[in-house]
Amino acid sequence: MDAAHMGGDLEKVLITEEEIQRRLEELAAEIWAEYEGKDVLLVGVLKGAVMVIADLMRALPGTAPMDWMAVSSYGSGTKSSGVVRILKDLDTDITGRHVLIVEDIVDSGLTLSWIRSNLESRSPASVEICTLLRKPEAAKVDIDVRWVGFDIPNEFVVGYGLDYDEQYRNLRDVGTLAAHVYS
Ligand code: IMP
Repeated sequence: MDAAHMGGDLEKVLITEEEIQRRLEELAAEIWAEYEGKDVLLVGVLKGAVMVIADLMRALPGTAPMDWMAVSSYGSGTKSSGVVRILKDLDTDITGRHVLIVEDIVDSGLTLSWIRSNLESRSPASVEICTLLRKPEAAKVDIDVRWVGFDIPNEFVVGYGLDYDEQYRNLRDVGTLAAHVYS
């Protein structure tokens, strides 16, 4: 879905599809420089990271496996609850492996910080984080994110995997919603 298909639901585009792809190419090169020759596993967090991991992986100049976790986060609202529950765990044993968590967005950081500690407790060789988007003003916990695509203002965004009430994930760009959508 393009911005033009959003009708009046879109307030503005923050990051275009082209900007996202260009940035992912850069990140993929940096990530490969770190992991080439190492036993790395990309871990995506469902469902928001679907687009990021698909495009990031294809931009890597070599092969790497992926696995997925699903955790509860927002439900249908727009505020993080901080309550995390594993809905789907990894299929893979990560003992002794290098884990790269690939996320769509770090908002309060609560979810990711919980996921990171959970994975670190499984004796991996390392755990790093790559996120497409980060909202520095919304941070509630200090979390070390090694690769960040874009820092964005503290606004609720949709598109490129990110939803509002399960809608708009298929918007190609990242943008904000018009006020009427929330009422
Ligand atoms: P956090 O725990 O506050 O960092 O947020 C965790 C999750 O909330 C993210 O992985 C997203 O799924 C969701 N989320 C946070 N901010 C936004 C947003 O602006 N739009 C859509 N989903 C968001």
